Amino acid sequence: MEHMNPQAQFCHNMACSARGKIGQGNIVVHSHKERRYKCSMCGKTFAATKGTPFYWLRHQMDMVVLVVTLLAYGCPVQAIVIAFGLDERTVSDWQKRAGQHCEQVHQKLVQVPRDLEHVQADEIRVKAQGHILWMALAIMVRTRLWLGGSVSPQRDRGLIVQVVQQIRASALCRPLLISVDGLAAYVTAVREVFRSRLPTGQRGRPTLVAWPSILIGQVVKRYAQGHVVEVVRRMAQGTWDQAMTLLTQSGGGRMLNVAYIERLNATFRMRLASLARRTRNPVRQTKTLHAAMYLVGCIYNCCTEHASLRIPGILGGRRKWLPRTPAMAAAITDHCWTVEELLCYRVPPPAWVPPKRRGRPPKAVALVRAAWT
Ligand SMILES: [Zn+2]
Repeated sequence: MEHMNPQAQFCHNMACSARGKIGQGNIVVHSHKERRYKCSMCGKTFAATKGTPFYWLRHQMDMVVLVVTLLAYGCPVQAIVIAFGLDERTVSDWQKRAGQHCEQVHQKLVQVPRDLEHVQADEIRVKAQGHILWMALAIMVRTRLWLGGSVSPQRDRGLIVQVVQQIRASALCRPLLISVDGLAAYVTAVREVFRSRLPTGQRGRPTLVAWPSILIGQVVKRYAQGHVVEVVRRMAQGTWDQAMTLLTQSGGGRMLNVAYIERLNATFRMRLASLARRTRNPVRQTKTLHAAMYLVGCIYNCCTEHASLRIPGILGGRRKWLPRTPAMAAAITDHCWTVEELLCYRVPPPAWVPPKRRGRPPKAVALVRAAWT
């Protein structure tokens, strides 16, 4: 059970001027027994679990954390149902809540503009009940940070545009190499998405300008009997010299490659296998897989240490290799999170802005003005 700490809480009341503010002293413990806090600014009380997937759940938090962890690592739902004596719909509901929560955490922590240097993107086929779904994923090479993804019943333009938009949401306007497969949709999607409005100060349709130095490298593999027989590397946008600079800078190898995204794909495929096969309805399947992707992705980013990300350091007076998670490598956090920490992370609403005065001034002001003129 999480310790009650009002200093780490914020007011959830959207009408409160102190909403989303942490450590301002406006939150006090309302009841230890009921585990409720109170905002002294607006007087509203809220449950300690507000803003987490545990809100309104009657089960113990430890149990939910355990089940969600098992799900995220690919444990079959049937095994969980039998082992814990839970209803399948309950497990389904927890998975959905956890996935939606992780999507918010991802948007808040990962989708912040950063110098990405080198990104790799790819699509995987996910077997769902009765048919195939496609998932496109993107990874930042230097930090191994999963940047996001998209799900679609088809391997179409929409799938690719969405994943490219996810990359764009985490990108600063700096030189960036995007390594992909031979799918032509990436080239058009990157050209369409990596553009900014040019401030003209005029009304009407804004002028869009393409970001400079966005490079697209394609690695096309030809297979025969399940083996790679030929690899063709080409630049669809930008020069080889520019690409080599970014490859070296990101530590992503000496040759154009998609090795990092392929490894990430394997992790996702393994963990998602049992999460996708739940329903026959294709729309619901897409939604379930979307939520599952965020659950797996957030645990990968925040709760999993990677040997390749370790750095030399000092621990307890001794020189040691210190393992890091992708989130640590990207300076999002300073430690490896537990799944409970991830599920308890509350995303504060944007700060309250006083409403703008619009239109006619209030009657009283108008009367005073009239008296003076
Ligand atoms: Zn408040």
